[in-house]
Order: sequence, then structure tokens, then C-alpha cells
Amino acid sequence: MKYSVDKNGFFGKFGGAYVPEILYKCVTDLQQAYLPIIESEDFQKEYMQLLRDYVGRPSPLYYAKRMSDRYGCQLYLKREDLNHTGAHKINNTVGQILMAKKMGKTRIIAETGAGQHGVATATVCALMDMECEIFMGATDVERQHTNVERMKMLGAKVHPVRTGNMTLSDACSEAIRDWCCHPENTFYIVGSTMGPHPYPDIVAKMQSIISKELKGQLQEKIGRDYPDYLIACVGGGSNAAGTIYHYIDDERVKIVLAEAAGHGIDTDYTAATIHCGSEGIIHGARSLVMQTEDGQIKEAFTISAGLDYPGIGPMHADLAEKGREQVLAITDDEAIYAGYELTRTEGIIPAIESAHAIAALRKMKFKKDDVVVLTVSGRGDKDVETYLSNKKMAKEYGEF
Ligand SMILES: *Cc1c(COP(=O)(O)O)cnc(C)c1O
Repeated sequence: MKYSVDKNGFFGKFGGAYVPEILYKCVTDLQQAYLPIIESEDFQKEYMQLLRDYVGRPSPLYYAKRMSDRYGCQLYLKREDLNHTGAHKINNTVGQILMAKKMGKTRIIAETGAGQHGVATATVCALMDMECEIFMGATDVERQHTNVERMKMLGAKVHPVRTGNMTLSDACSEAIRDWCCHPENTFYIVGSTMGPHPYPDIVAKMQSIISKELKGQLQEKIGRDYPDYLIACVGGGSNAAGTIYHYIDDERVKIVLAEAAGHGIDTDYTAATIHCGSEGIIHGARSLVMQTEDGQIKEAFTISAGLDYPGIGPMHADLAEKGREQVLAITDDEAIYAGYELTRTEGIIPAIESAHAIAALRKMKFKKDDVVVLTVSGRGDKDVETYLSNKKMAKEYGEF
């Protein structure tokens, strides 16, 4: 593979490891350890076995006939919503906890926004009998109560974070602070392709199973191992990174990502970092950041708690800037509509995050035989209330 992180942890001018002195050793230890661990036969065997028997992989690649007819293309859905715990997040937490064990760590910490990464982390901690502490903004603790209960039931301790806007960005800062206090025994399981090097590369590699499976599944279904388009939603960028990983160098494949515009990119209520951000440092990496003129990080706004982040993984900042990725901004209303559309057309209720990717279809022009692969990053059970309280967006589907 040609495209990759450089030895200092940069994707073009984005990435790197901007951490406080006290974490320097932790981060350099991890930088030296992660590739040998991931490439070892031992790790691969255990990881692949858990992905198969515990997560339920490979996730199906489903030909969505009715949606294909609607959009005049050949649409295939990569069903990450069918994984254990309901999203792609578990691919990454299974891998990172194995890595933590191999490095002799005994305590796990993680940040979470919507709670999906918190649940996926608490799940693998229960599985591996590890101590688990989750940092979550106090606002999100209230908004995402069911996921908090799930984490507690799994045995995790949930810390409500009351600094800043009390959302994901503040939870990340608090997790980093905790890591500073316990660098010896603690492994920080980062939930997306963000944070200091090597995290963006670790998470992309853990999620790359998505595109690895796509190659075999496409070969079997259409007789070639690549699609014309790949589509995914992007918050920090992990399901998107996994979806494109093995196709980045393949120029035959067009990449389209959907970021959350909230009320719109020309308002203050948005989470569309690639459209609205500028260069800065966020949570240990140089990337695009939504910030004020004097460098204060702005609060992100979107209906989708999983995309509610004022930064973006450095790999996507780079690929978007180089034009390798086309990035569309999808508003709350467009995502709600698309969520209903997939539900009524295919009988699949997508996570509101994934609905942003579905909404991208409407903004694109296809030829009839274009093969389009769209990753459904998670299932929408957690979002039913949000969908129902916004049903006016989908009034063509009648009263319900
Ligand atoms: C967390 C989450 C996302 C956003 O995270 P990425 O790292 O950008 O993939 C998207 N979809 C679902 C279902 C999620 O839980």
C-alpha cells in the first residue's frame, strides 16, 4: 500500500503527536509496540477469531434492490449495523484490548459521546476481565441514558464530565488527563481515527477489516473486487477509514464522505469540520478544527451524537485536502429523511449517523451500472425517539 502514515505520524501535514511531557513515554512506547503486535501471528489469530465468533463477522454485503431502483445505480450496503453491540466500534475495541493485554496494562479508559464507543469498550472489558472507566460529557450522560445503563451493567464506571460544553470534546480532554495520572498501568482505548500518533493509524488498521471483506464479497457478487463508489459517514473518521482503507491507492474507486452539517454549514449550528474547520491542534494531533478566530475550539452541533465532534481524523483532513475524498455536508433534516427512506424501502432502520451517508445518494449522479458500496455504520434502535420526534421531515411516508 502506497498511502500511509509517515514515521513521525503524519498524513501530509496533518497528524503527529502533540502530548504533554508526562505522556511522552506512554505514547512513544505505543508507537514502538503497535506494528509488531498487530503484525504478529499471535495477535492476528486471536483478533480474527474474536471478530468471527464474538462480533459476528464478516458483516453481510447486501444488494439493496429497491434503493438501487430509486437512485439508478447498483447499491450495496455494508452491514456494520449487524455487528455485536450494533455498530462498527467493536471492531476497534476488540483489537485495542488485545493490544493492551499484550502490553501488560491492567486498566482501561475511554471517552464516549453517544455512548456507542463506551458500550463497545465496556463490552470487551467484561469479556477480558479488565477494569474499565469511561469519560462522558454530563450533557451526553443525560441525552444517552440507555447507553449509560448498558455500560454500568457491563461493569464499567462512568464519569460524567462537567467542564466546557460537557460533551464529547470535553470527555476526550478528561480521558487524556486521567491517562496523564496513570501512565503506567492504563491503556487508553481511543474510539475513532483521532488523537496523537499512533492512534489514527491503529484505529484505521482495526477498522480496515471492512474493506478487506469488501474485496472478497464484491469479487463474489459482481466479478471484480472494487466498486465505482464508496460512501460512508464521517465523525472522527473510523468507519470511513475502514471502508476505504484497501482502496485509497485505487483511483478507479471514487470516495464520497458525508459529514454532519447540523442546521447548515452557513450557520453556527454545525459539525461539518472539513467544510468549516481550519488548521489547528485538537486532542494531540494537527488537523482541521472548528475554532474561533483566537483559537478556542467551538462546540459542534448536529442531531447525531456520534458525529458531534469539532475535529476530524488527520487522515481524512489530508485526503480531503488532496481531493482524494469528496466530502458532502448533510443537514439534520436530510439525515432524518434518509433514515425514514431506508427504513421504508429496505426495512433497515439505520443509526442517525449512518443516515447521513444515505442522504449523500440524493446529491450524486450515477450511471445505471455504477456499483456503489455504502457503509451502514450502525443500527438505529438508539435513535427511534429522535426519528419519531422529527417525523414531519418524512411526511410522504404517512401518519405513524
Ligand atoms: C461513533 C459512530 C460514528 C462516527 O464515528 P466514526 O469514527 O466517524 O466512524 C458513525 N456511526 C455510528 C453508528 C457510530 O456509533
